[in-house]
Amino acid sequence: MLTVRNLNVSVEDNAILKGVNLEVRPGEVHAIMGPNGSGKSTLSATLAGRDDYQVTDGEVLFKGKDLLALEPEERAGEGIFMAFQYPVEIPGVSNQFFLQTAVNAVRKYRNQEPLDRFDFADFIEEKIALLKMPPDLLTRSVNVGFSGGEKKRNDILQMAALEPELCILDETDSGLDIDALKVVAHGVNSLRNERRSFIIVTHYQRILDYVKPDHVHVLYQGRIVKSGDFSLVKQLEEQGYGWLTEQQ
Ligand code: ADP
Ligand code: MG
Ligand code: MG
Repeated sequence: MLTVRNLNVSVEDNAILKGVNLEVRPGEVHAIMGPNGSGKSTLSATLAGRDDYQVTDGEVLFKGKDLLALEPEERAGEGIFMAFQYPVEIPGVSNQFFLQTAVNAVRKYRNQEPLDRFDFADFIEEKIALLKMPPDLLTRSVNVGFSGGEKKRNDILQMAALEPELCILDETDSGLDIDALKVVAHGVNSLRNERRSFIIVTHYQRILDYVKPDHVHVLYQGRIVKSGDFSLVKQLEEQGYGWLTEQQ
């Protein structure tokens, strides 16, 4: 589904990623871990197509297409969803309207008919029920005055609504209390299936106790220095990153 080959990325002429390789197949959950400043957010921002990240070498294929040639909106249309550490707030725009607009933009890209208010209401109610979320989330302004946990809940609802094939969560667990963490984990676990893949970028192993990844990678100084299965998470929990970073 996603192939990252020898990805080199610079920010303001500083080389940050120095040859990242990654292969994500349908249905797989990958965790990208690593100490602060190792390039995790640079990797997710590059996959999302954010400005200011210059790809200086390598390639990224998503379902066989050159991902780096696509605009961020096109990436969403193709089936990539990104949740960031700091979700945006949009005063005066109801969540329901925002989600309907986003869903219809993606449907248009996929040559599907738009959902009208009534069809969308049914559609989103199903998602809310699946995620066991409070329906009042829909009538409030996007993320305005939301607690950290509510913002996460909203991210997960957006993720469910857009029905992506690849979800990338960048440190969405940072600073969350355990209840909010469980909301994110429950959301991911409810949406996990044999066609949908996840990349969970995190500094902490906590969330990985609730969302068991199939593959775990450690990014350090812009390179993946170790890959393994869930046992690597346990090893990092016990030994920290030192044993890996000292070898570099
Ligand atoms: P992580 O998410 O693993 O903590 P980042 O990808 O945020 O790491 O950052 C990796 C490195 O890139 C860090 O050394 C950071 O200082 C640097 N960096 C990130 N963003 C910028 C930027 N906008 N300008 C210059 N350097 C940056
Ligand atoms: Mg950081
Ligand atoms: Mg980061």
